[in-house]
Amino acid sequence: MKLITSLLAAAAISVAAFVAPVLAQDKGVVGISMPTKTSTRWISDGETMEKLFTEAGYTPDLQFADDDIPNQLAQIENMVTKGAKVLVIGAIDGTTLSDILQKAADAGVKVIAYDRLIRDSGNVNYYATFDNFQVGVLQATSLVEGLKLDSGVKNVELFGGSPDDNNAFFFYDGAMSVLQPLIDSGKIVVKSGQMGMEQVGTLRWDGAVAQARMENLLSSTYSDAKVDGVLSPYDGLSIGILSALKGVGYGSGDMPMPVVTGQDAELPSVKSILADEQYSSVFKDTRELAKVTVSMVDAIMTGGEPEVNDTKTYDNGVKIIPSYLLKPVSVDKTNVKDVLVGAGYYTADQIDN
Ligand code: BGC
Repeated sequence: MKLITSLLAAAAISVAAFVAPVLAQDKGVVGISMPTKTSTRWISDGETMEKLFTEAGYTPDLQFADDDIPNQLAQIENMVTKGAKVLVIGAIDGTTLSDILQKAADAGVKVIAYDRLIRDSGNVNYYATFDNFQVGVLQATSLVEGLKLDSGVKNVELFGGSPDDNNAFFFYDGAMSVLQPLIDSGKIVVKSGQMGMEQVGTLRWDGAVAQARMENLLSSTYSDAKVDGVLSPYDGLSIGILSALKGVGYGSGDMPMPVVTGQDAELPSVKSILADEQYSSVFKDTRELAKVTVSMVDAIMTGGEPEVNDTKTYDNGVKIIPSYLLKPVSVDKTNVKDVLVGAGYYTADQIDN
């Protein structure tokens, strides 16, 4: 019996050894460089791509750069050395990659800017992202809806994303396309006077930095006035902002929680929305972005033309990068659960517990 078992095992091994090379597709290494793990979205972007690339016969090399620029440069350099054929990059700072991308281009490596535009380099082939201006429009539209402007003039403070991330300007400009006319007509007042990305940007999208700035705004500008709304471009900042607001008593007694926006529909923020704290977020299905990117790479690698739907918006300072833009979706208390559970992004259990 023992003998039969070991004979069978040996036969299985030799069949496997014989079959494996035939089954294994090897379409080459794809380097996936994600900026950070501090936000769950990037982990899910990276992991979804890793899975889809593997299923499509590629060998993914997934690295997270911990929001550290030299780290990202070293990881990308290593991918090129290891013979990656394509790089998919979610840049930390969109302006720091020119040298390494030149090396990549010299080695014949193709480059896809993932979610964030890579600037100042001619060696970027395609860009897969969401309609970033529209994200800002959705944030401001939801802010205005939550403010109920027919009940009088409202005080609003503005937060921007990281100034080294091209997206941050698109989010801000999209939001201001809705808010500026209301500021001009006096329906909305930015009481601190702090406007423009130079004044409201939040380096590295850091929630603690946003919290500290909100605390300063509350003590410098709102000791005898109330803030009614805060434009926040990202859930991780919204959490910091909400905690500064709660710290001085908003959300209880006669101090209603101001309308605070967000982005990414991260789980803690979804729960906060359902608990009547954060007002809204913007859902961007990162699984779809991963899918689009994998098909772009596959088209490039098999001699086809990747599908794009925008060839005029994303000028990176050297050239306009052909792009595929996905649609963002605004979520608030009225639809957040339906949209996210409906899309299979979270289970009802994850949201409720
Ligand atoms: C992404 C957002 C994200 C932010 C912070 C941006 O580039 O587009 O989805 O909230 O970075 O990670």
